[in-house]
Amino acid sequence: MADNKIRVRFAPSPTGPLHIGGVRTALYNYLFARKQGGKMIFRIEDTDSTRFVPGAEEYIIESFKWLGIEFDEGVGIGGDKGPYRQSERREIYKQYVEQLLQNGAAYYAFDTPDELNAKRQEVANFQYDASTRTQMRNSLTLPEDEVKRLLETEPYVVRFKINAGEEVHVKDIIRGDVVVNSSVLDDKVLYKSADQLPTYHLANIVDDHLMEISHVIRGEEWLPSAPLHVLLYRAFGWQDTMPAFAHLPLLLKPDGKGKLSKRDGDKLGFPVFPLQWTDPQTGNISSGYRESGYLKEAVINFLALLGWNPGTEQEILSLDELTNQFDLAKCSKSGAKFDYMKGWWFNREYLLLRSDDELAPDFLKILEANGVHTTADKAAQVIGMMKQKVVEYVDGQSGQTRKRNISFLADLWPLCDFFFCAPQDYDRADKFIVKNWKENTAAEMQALACQLEGVESWTVEDMKAAIDPWVAESGIRPWNAWRICLVGKGQGPDMYELAAFLGKQETLERMAHAVKTLA
Ligand code: GLU
Repeated sequence: MADNKIRVRFAPSPTGPLHIGGVRTALYNYLFARKQGGKMIFRIEDTDSTRFVPGAEEYIIESFKWLGIEFDEGVGIGGDKGPYRQSERREIYKQYVEQLLQNGAAYYAFDTPDELNAKRQEVANFQYDASTRTQMRNSLTLPEDEVKRLLETEPYVVRFKINAGEEVHVKDIIRGDVVVNSSVLDDKVLYKSADQLPTYHLANIVDDHLMEISHVIRGEEWLPSAPLHVLLYRAFGWQDTMPAFAHLPLLLKPDGKGKLSKRDGDKLGFPVFPLQWTDPQTGNISSGYRESGYLKEAVINFLALLGWNPGTEQEILSLDELTNQFDLAKCSKSGAKFDYMKGWWFNREYLLLRSDDELAPDFLKILEANGVHTTADKAAQVIGMMKQKVVEYVDGQSGQTRKRNISFLADLWPLCDFFFCAPQDYDRADKFIVKNWKENTAAEMQALACQLEGVESWTVEDMKAAIDPWVAESGIRPWNAWRICLVGKGQGPDMYELAAFLGKQETLERMAHAVKTLA
């Protein structure tokens, strides 16, 4: 169904690198908008200048560029409802703050930080609300001329006047009707004269209204703000065009105990940011999905299924399939465990979906970084021979070494050096060598080398045709020792394939070197 009235937004605050949960929020907005033929807006919510981090906005934009999540309007794109950066909309907000002040939905407050602290000390769980605002210094308690004087001479804030004892309904597509009593809400600050900027709540509501947002899809951490937002829509008289809400389930730690944090990633060894991030203040580097070798399709598929599933067994879904099947109403209410090993699994599946030739350029980069210069064709051959192998990793939880399937191109390198560097020394204590290099092995390898000399075209087929009958006839089982010659240890691919890759000369040289060294 194409409905061009559907307009969603992703509205991050540039306070640091985008958390992977934020990426999922953007993805769900994107899938929802695409499916309905709607528009997706990219807005920067930067009204809190104290939390502004340089580079964060650029980082967010680059993250979506990498993932292929495209916006229709917004910062860096344009559109007829801009500007889309809140710090450029000061004048717009001022008139809406004025509107609330005039219709009595908001008031000026002059309490200093010290006065507020004193009050908090005096009253346990102090909340600035209908029960306490009468004791505070604000335009509801002070005489008019005093208010006028203070407005000219002192910093002030504008607070939202929330009536007590009213049921506020938040209609949430995922959570149903969420009801909160207004008495638990405080008279939130909407505007600060100090920086002449509105707070998040006011700017967020005004912009959602002016940008004609139809659906607010965001993380569960914003659910507590939603009743206040509903009241703000009402105070402005915008209740008829209020967007529908959908608060997405939290991303939980892998063990399900609490909210996913950067520390979990550091401890267990997975990124919590889409791209690598260098903290501009400390220089600390946090790992990113892109730099860790994840394919963007894998990241998207993995994130899409954290909190939603299509209700079938199918797990590998392209962006188009996700778009077609996505249903906001089927998102789960309960938090989604961040199963990072499932992320490895997705990455492996998507690696295997690409051809060896497609993967070669990225693998070449890894090889180059390790001092190996070769061709894309050779890199592709190595991928083909090795991608079904397993690799060791250190489990972050137990500290134990475990094995898993190859999930990243970088997993291949530690298994692959022998393709490019001939073994020089052999570990004589190595069990495989002890077991397979006996007194007569050198002679057997010389005999095998003799057979190989006679192979004309150095292909797997021709080698096979020459060697297999010789093996049958001679009774020599050359495989393990041949492996020691070419690899230096008990690892690697099929021997004929390896020999074909190395070429005749290199194969025979490695055999001669082993015979000489291990004799
Ligand atoms: N600026 C908020 C954030 O950083 C946006 C919350 C919302 O989507 O309303 O996530």
